[in-house]
Amino acid sequence: MYDPLHDLSPGQSQPYPDSYWAAHSGPAPADDGALTQDCTVDVAIIGAGYTGLSAAYHLATEHGVKALVLEANQTAWGCSGRNAGFVLKSSGRKPYAQMQKQWGEAVMRGVYQEFNAGLDRVRQLISLGIDCDQQEPGYLRMAHKPSMVPTLQAQARLLQQTFGAEVELLSRSEVHQQYVADQQSFGALRFADAFGVNPLKLAWGYQQLARNAGVMIHTASPVQQWQTDGRTQVLHTPQAVVRARKVILATNGYTPKQLHPGVQSRTLPVLSQIIVTEPLSAAQLAACNLLTSQVVMDTRALKYYYRKLPDNRILFGGRGAITGRDAENPFYAERLLEVLKLSFPALHNLRYDYQWSGWICMSLDDIPHIYQADAHADVVYSMGYCGSGLSFSVQAGKRLADKVMGLTQPDLPLFQSALPKFPLAPLRRVGQWGYFHYGKLKDQWW
Ligand SMILES: Cc1cc2nc3c(=O)[nH]c(=O)nc-3n(C[C@H](O)[C@H](O)[C@H](O)COP(=O)(O)OP(=O)(O)OC[C@H]3O[C@@H](n4cnc5c(N)ncnc54)[C@H](O)[C@@H]3O)c2cc1C
Repeated sequence: MYDPLHDLSPGQSQPYPDSYWAAHSGPAPADDGALTQDCTVDVAIIGAGYTGLSAAYHLATEHGVKALVLEANQTAWGCSGRNAGFVLKSSGRKPYAQMQKQWGEAVMRGVYQEFNAGLDRVRQLISLGIDCDQQEPGYLRMAHKPSMVPTLQAQARLLQQTFGAEVELLSRSEVHQQYVADQQSFGALRFADAFGVNPLKLAWGYQQLARNAGVMIHTASPVQQWQTDGRTQVLHTPQAVVRARKVILATNGYTPKQLHPGVQSRTLPVLSQIIVTEPLSAAQLAACNLLTSQVVMDTRALKYYYRKLPDNRILFGGRGAITGRDAENPFYAERLLEVLKLSFPALHNLRYDYQWSGWICMSLDDIPHIYQADAHADVVYSMGYCGSGLSFSVQAGKRLADKVMGLTQPDLPLFQSALPKFPLAPLRRVGQWGYFHYGKLKDQWW
């Protein structure tokens, strides 16, 4: 599997992974095919995931700029077409309590508003006519051990008192009776405003909106070489060269090694793995009291997440392999199935029909950064959603569009500083391995 820390390119025209989404979304809508003629544009966007598509859409609809999108493989071939489809009001891994301590109340509120705006923006774009199999609203953050219940209580207080958020605490028996009899749940914090979608159909919907607004989306067009000629960015694809005044780098966890020095050694791509089981029978659903299609994630440092899909399968996810070379090893899918069965012992004979993985993008300081990669702000990026970018990527795309147009960005750490460099960058994977071991101990014992 493509490994961004080792490979110089994500390939060209690669098919989608064998995911449940690829098998259940129908034919891909038309795009503009490979770029075959040299051209000069105001804005080029590298990467056709949610970030790149949103930037293109907002540039066209709010600023009248028709950007050119270059995608190495297919639209949403990266994370955007292979994620779990949990549309949550969040990004990054930094808790609000920590933001409050480090940055103060006003900044914490500002970040919350940005994440909220991301969720609103997804809803608004869906309302323009995107069919993405939206499921019932609600997100259950499950306490995976009794000692996590006070943590959820503190989170509920902060969210209710500071933001007036619509959250409720549920006891273990309330969770078991009203939602799902998950044996690894000791209670939950329920957020009213999240929901599940088919992520690939969502991305295709964004593509359609952008193309309707006049954007050209060239798939099978990897940027293989990047030069700067004065203030012009020169992007080489296999069949044509693009000269652009500004470039938006929207490659996130799939950014190949050495694509641009401005983002080199500033992210850590980490594999997240998903399995989708065979459909559950009515008896199996009843045995787990699996009443809900709301999205579920636990409180572990090494999180597991799941949801019931419209055809009564369970999508279950968690961490995967460390390297791309090991990504296809069935051990990781089997491990997820074992954990699923700890939650639902009645499903001891259940098998999975689909398994795949993808590179989420971690930042050193646990927050995304929307910033410039060069001295002149001619190259800007948004990266580091830390595995939770489904809604925020769309807001980031809007901010990127504003940024290339020279508009002022909100005075928040997300927009005012570059992704910090990882110290000892060549050893990032060793650090990840160490964190996985620490996380395992923490989740079990502390
Ligand atoms: C298994 C998994 C589950 C997840 N679940 C959730 C979830 O439930 N909720 C949530 O909020 N987030 C989730 N995420 C994270 C979320 O999917 C991402 O944050 C989001 O999709 C990032 O979108 P993006 O557009 O920034 O990047 P991507 O969608 O990764 O797009 C980057 C694109 O850049 C292209 N590219 C790279 N290099 C080049 C080049 N040189 N030339 C041209 N193109 C290039 C790639 O081919 C790729 O298509 C999950 C991620 C994974 C992997």
